[in-house]
Amino acid sequence: MQFNGIVLGVPREIMEAELRVAVIPDTVKQFTEAGARVLVESGAGAGAYYADEAYRQAGAHIVPDAPTLYESAQIVLKVKEPQKDPATGTHEADLLPEGSMLICFLHPANPINHDTVRRLAERRITAFTLDSIPRVPRAQHMDALTSMSTVAGYKAVISAAHHLARFVPMIPTASGIVQPARMLVVGTGVAGLQSIATAKRLGAKIRSLDIRAEANEQARSLGAEVLPFELPPGMGTGAGGYAERLPESEYARERETLAPAVAESDVVILTALVPSEKAPILVDQTMVRTMRKGSVIVDISIDQGGNCALTRPGEEYVWNDVLISGLKNIPAHLAIDATRMFAHNAFEYLNHIVADGRVDLDSTDEIIRDSLVTRDGRIVHEGTLKAMDAHGV
Ligand code: NAD
Repeated sequence: MQFNGIVLGVPREIMEAELRVAVIPDTVKQFTEAGARVLVESGAGAGAYYADEAYRQAGAHIVPDAPTLYESAQIVLKVKEPQKDPATGTHEADLLPEGSMLICFLHPANPINHDTVRRLAERRITAFTLDSIPRVPRAQHMDALTSMSTVAGYKAVISAAHHLARFVPMIPTASGIVQPARMLVVGTGVAGLQSIATAKRLGAKIRSLDIRAEANEQARSLGAEVLPFELPPGMGTGAGGYAERLPESEYARERETLAPAVAESDVVILTALVPSEKAPILVDQTMVRTMRKGSVIVDISIDQGGNCALTRPGEEYVWNDVLISGLKNIPAHLAIDATRMFAHNAFEYLNHIVADGRVDLDSTDEIIRDSLVTRDGRIVHEGTLKAMDAHGV
């Protein structure tokens, strides 16, 4: 059987406000039926409303605490990168037994995780990161990053509508017609397109802007009015079809294009990202000052620094009568569906990398090669090595 002899450990997530978990009873069943032994830390599923008993019935063994779980697992599968448990002072990277494996969103290129990545390499942990699965059609069903971007794009609009002191749709009333809210979506990749689709369902009037022509085309097909902004030929789209960093002069021009639209918007959703880079500042203080009182900015890009100069990481606050939301880790706020999607993606990923009870480290497979971060005591992830170099470490 495919997972024969594999011992998979699923801990409770310890990041503050993290309600997701890496397996659901359905995927536990899939793993155990294929020969794996699945250990789940007691209470791990509580945030997404999965009780220990549901996991037990699906074939999991419930383990009382994290140290017991980590010491018994061959592969630890979790959602977020290892971190220090404020309750015990122990770092999760130190709980992993030497020679074991880790699969999670490690975000290894992000400087805040460089120490963790080095520690994993030193301890000879084989670590894989789910945020580096290549965007190729055969990897679509394991692409947890896309799933979580879908969640973030949806939840950002719902959260904006919740904060907005206006209706979103057009509503005819006895006292006249209520005009629809005007939303501006900046960056229309997976999250931004989901924001547009959600805003459309709510009845908003939507404008958008991306620097990739393909993304603008998709936004238009969902009903957004795309703001006119031309880049010099060959600029905007870089490696792998992702956006590339622009010269500062182009960002200044982009802000000029965005400024009148920001001033006219009731809601601004910011999602613009360049892989492994700090998010560009596309909305500055002067632009926020022009917004109408009671407007809302939701800055999804905050995990990479934020697109608005005023966004505070992890905070929602009011500046000049505009609510600016910099909530981090938005997918955790939709824990049931985010967990379900993550768990299925994670199962498919393991299904891909495990064969005959062995993890395949075959580096000719681009899915394995791109997502492998540490191996045999070394850091092997290109983006991480580049980011560490850039930070002089
Ligand atoms: P992302 O999260 O890296 O970036 C979000 C968006 O921000 C992107 O559309 C990017 O172009 C945009 N952006 C960057 N700088 C900007 C700026 N200055 N102004 C405005 N917008 C800016 O991107 P993503 O959502 O992860 O997806 C990127 C692309 O990857 C998608 O559009 C899609 O075509 C592709 N994709 C393919 C698959 C697949 O084939 N399986 C899966 C997911 C995504």
